[in-house]
Amino acid sequence: MIYTDQKLRIYNSVSNEKQTFTPIQQGHVGMYVCGPTVYSKVHLGNVRTFMSFDMIYRYLLHLGYKVRYVRNITDVGHLVDDADQGEDKIGKRARLERLEPMEIVQRYTVDFHDILNQFNLLPPSIEPTATGHIIEQIQLIQKVIDNGYGYQSNGSVYFDVTKYNQDYDYSELSHRKLEDMISNSRKLDGQSDKRGEQDFAMWKRAEPDHLMRWPSPWGDGFPGWHTECITMSTKYLGEKFDLHGGGMDLKFPHHECEIAQGKACTAHAPVNYWLHANLLTLNGKKMAKSTGNNILPGEILAGTNPLLSKAYSASVTRFLMMQTHYRSIMDFSDQAMLAAEKGYHRLMSSVQDLQNINPGTLSTLDIPAWREDCYRAMDDDFNTPILISHLFEGVNFINMLKDKSAWLTSADLNHFSRTMSVLIYDVLGLGKSSAVSSTHKDKLEGTINLLIEMRNAARDDKNYLLSDQIREGLTALDILLEDTKDGTRFKY
Ligand SMILES: [Zn+2]
Repeated sequence: MIYTDQKLRIYNSVSNEKQTFTPIQQGHVGMYVCGPTVYSKVHLGNVRTFMSFDMIYRYLLHLGYKVRYVRNITDVGHLVDDADQGEDKIGKRARLERLEPMEIVQRYTVDFHDILNQFNLLPPSIEPTATGHIIEQIQLIQKVIDNGYGYQSNGSVYFDVTKYNQDYDYSELSHRKLEDMISNSRKLDGQSDKRGEQDFAMWKRAEPDHLMRWPSPWGDGFPGWHTECITMSTKYLGEKFDLHGGGMDLKFPHHECEIAQGKACTAHAPVNYWLHANLLTLNGKKMAKSTGNNILPGEILAGTNPLLSKAYSASVTRFLMMQTHYRSIMDFSDQAMLAAEKGYHRLMSSVQDLQNINPGTLSTLDIPAWREDCYRAMDDDFNTPILISHLFEGVNFINMLKDKSAWLTSADLNHFSRTMSVLIYDVLGLGKSSAVSSTHKDKLEGTINLLIEMRNAARDDKNYLLSDQIREGLTALDILLEDTKDGTRFKY
């Protein structure tokens, strides 16, 4: 296992520093990531967040860990204003479109899976839904009440933040002071069921016209968003697990509330390492539908957004995203995509060239040192931009090998080629080459070689019409022919 030799360090949002990663159970990792609220098409910023955790999941798998990766679907309980007021996001959409809430859920869950699949994200091990875990949420709420940190009020159940903060620290993740939060928040209007302004709903009473409702010991209602994640994470990963991730915007109140409910139930922190992916901006500004500064992931692939000069592949988009560290703000623009496209093609065509390099009798490049640099970057809190810069050192190596100003022994050449492929395809998730089965690949390559033979035969017969037709037809499929003194080669 590679992980035994690696010193993986992860930035923990609780301590605000990088810590050496030690899993609870050796060789195993439990990881939970807050999934989407499925009431509209998935946002590009969310794709970036999920892609960041996909890269982290891929790297942990590559290191040899057995990873149980849980990412939920929020299909109830996420209210419009993110606090305890306003309509349920899914319920509102269902009302506007005159559909059943579950029709909205189904439509946008399918869209979410479709987009993530196109961007080559691996599916999680378990994808639980909030509506599928109502009983477990009621049980967790009851435990919080029994332990003295929750109270019932007018058919709803709230978490008592003031009481909790006397025994624990309601700022362990967000590092905010409760007094500041209280003075900054709206005063209760007298109609609220809450005792304290910072208290949050674990269970909300359903008004008579509310569509999504379940019976509970406190009357008909629905669970609060902060309760579903702590319920489903601890159900599948245990009352204490290794990693919890999400977007930076979920740190407070969502994740702070998860910790509070976990501690209120078990008297210990539910999670060892909290990870947060940063925001995505478009042309330097926050994305917003209202200003037109907005782009959907599908529009990038189709090239149908006026902010783009053309369509881009999912791999190029992924390459651009991986060029920014997951904890930094990432800016998306047409210009950045054009540059990413150039860089991506340079990297991929170079990796193809590597297949045609012949080994020498000695090595003039230090492959073990280069490989160590690549892993050191990933072990330093998953630093993909630094990894990519090392992959481009690899591109320089390949150029030197091609023009015979450097040599590698057969063992070093294999090692180099394998490391490049593993990091590009398996860890960064670029391209889909590794997903193509070898028989499929062999058949494709056999067919291309047959066409090359036919083209060369046509040229020998001076039938240039046919030979050009074959070359142009292949070019249209992004298969490029290269005539060398050793014969004709092709690359994708
Ligand atoms: Zn969550």
